[in-house]
Amino acid sequence: MKITFLGAARSVTGSCHLVEAGGLKVLIDCGMRQGRDAKQELGAGGLSFDAGTIDFVLLTHAHIDHSGLVPVLMKNGFSGRILTTSATSELVQIMLVDSGHIQELEAEWRSRKNERAGKPPEEPLYTAEEAKGVIEYITTLEYDSAYDLNENVRIRFVDAGHLFGSACVEFYAKEDGREVKTVFSGDLGNKNIPIINDPDIIDSADYVVMESTYGDRMHEDKRPPDEQLKDVLSEAIRRGGNIVIPSFAVGRSQEILYEISVLLKEGGVPGLEKIPVFLDSPLAIQATEIFKHKYLHYYDDEALEYMKEGVKFFGFETLHIAETAEESKAINDMPGQKIIISASGMCEAGRIKHHLKHNLWRADSTVIFVGYQAEGTLGRQIVDGQRKVKIFNENIHVNAAVTMIDGLSGHADKGGLIEWISHFKTPLKKVFLVHGEEDTILSFQKTLAGLGYDVLAPRLNDSYDTGLGLSPAAAEPKKDIPELIRSTLHNIAAAVEAEIAHGNGSQLAPMEEELKDFLDKWNNRKATRNGEVK
Ligand SMILES: [Zn+2]
Ligand SMILES: [Zn+2]
Repeated sequence: MKITFLGAARSVTGSCHLVEAGGLKVLIDCGMRQGRDAKQELGAGGLSFDAGTIDFVLLTHAHIDHSGLVPVLMKNGFSGRILTTSATSELVQIMLVDSGHIQELEAEWRSRKNERAGKPPEEPLYTAEEAKGVIEYITTLEYDSAYDLNENVRIRFVDAGHLFGSACVEFYAKEDGREVKTVFSGDLGNKNIPIINDPDIIDSADYVVMESTYGDRMHEDKRPPDEQLKDVLSEAIRRGGNIVIPSFAVGRSQEILYEISVLLKEGGVPGLEKIPVFLDSPLAIQATEIFKHKYLHYYDDEALEYMKEGVKFFGFETLHIAETAEESKAINDMPGQKIIISASGMCEAGRIKHHLKHNLWRADSTVIFVGYQAEGTLGRQIVDGQRKVKIFNENIHVNAAVTMIDGLSGHADKGGLIEWISHFKTPLKKVFLVHGEEDTILSFQKTLAGLGYDVLAPRLNDSYDTGLGLSPAAAEPKKDIPELIRSTLHNIAAAVEAEIAHGNGSQLAPMEEELKDFLDKWNNRKATRNGEVK
């Protein structure tokens, strides 16, 4: 068996691992690289491998960093099956269509920019229409039921407790007469995530490929999310202004609605029952429908209990849905205090930006962050306490109260990750760390090594063969040397010019000798090559 790490290797996004075993080529996830990782180079068509040779894709969950390149796979000759849970199957469809819309908008924007620069237009990676085709490829498989990919390989999904329908993959491959078991953790949930169960315990494996998002951090506030939200909402209501919650559309938004419905039932937040709650994100509204209807077998006991008692998580009396852009805009003209849940979670796009523009400057408003804010995002600027931010080219003063709840984090922290791996009773031959910033992965590698595990932190495109061990990614393609020299010379010339322009020309004098020396050597070599000097 051979595993090649095609994404989320010493980085967080773009999860994609190729397993070659039992005559099959199987991808575990096919995610999109986001933020900084998006700059990592991919091959033609946005993939670094031949899509036509892949037999199966096993999707651990619907998040775009695990599923976002599936339509690219389809466009490039994939004719196999995608296996995933029924909840993920529904969620991934709406998420990929939404991602297709975003690809189209971005391509349009870049094309307009190209046009002004006299360059050709750009095609979207895939369109919303193309993304819709994903349904044709999906076979659903529920937790804990085995599935034979062929006579040599079988798999099983178990609950990862990270998102509705999220799974860890147990991968069994026959090798030299015995079965080798590899566990892919996918994203591992935090304990006490509302609605869904905690991650399942897995107690045996030969190899483990595990995420490390919070491999060097503990969540600060250990109280359950409902207690944290209770305090923050009580204070926000007392302040009297609007309460704006930037939220990820799928998962987090439904968790907040759930917590609010439970707080309404249990009491303890004075005045909450009088405040209208607006869910203002088309994707969140679609996702909420999926949470609501068919998939009660993904609910945890607490959620089922509340349901029995008549709590309507996604249909309580004060909940309003803002489907259209007009309905969204109207929220800001309404008098009185309200709770507004809107996307995107890091405030980079979507309707949330309008709500922040209308509320950040007001001293009685409260903004409640419920998820990680990546560096460089508008959300991060606000969380970091910046007093002025730019929204739609307008300077907005931050006078609102800003708070952060970390009890709703979707990922296990360092303690949770160690607990998860400590359940394995059989000695693990190797642990591979993926899905984390490089520093975090290296720190977590040390932690696990200290606990006696044999841990590797593969780099992008590294392979591990159970017979041969780790082999580094194939050598980089040959560089265009003349072009490299040309651009280096160009950079030197530009630096010299800049120094002279700044009146530092005299500092360059010592360099002249070195440059002459270099040119002498250059001429000698050239002469040797041309056969002039023997
Ligand atoms: Zn995830
Ligand atoms: Zn992820």
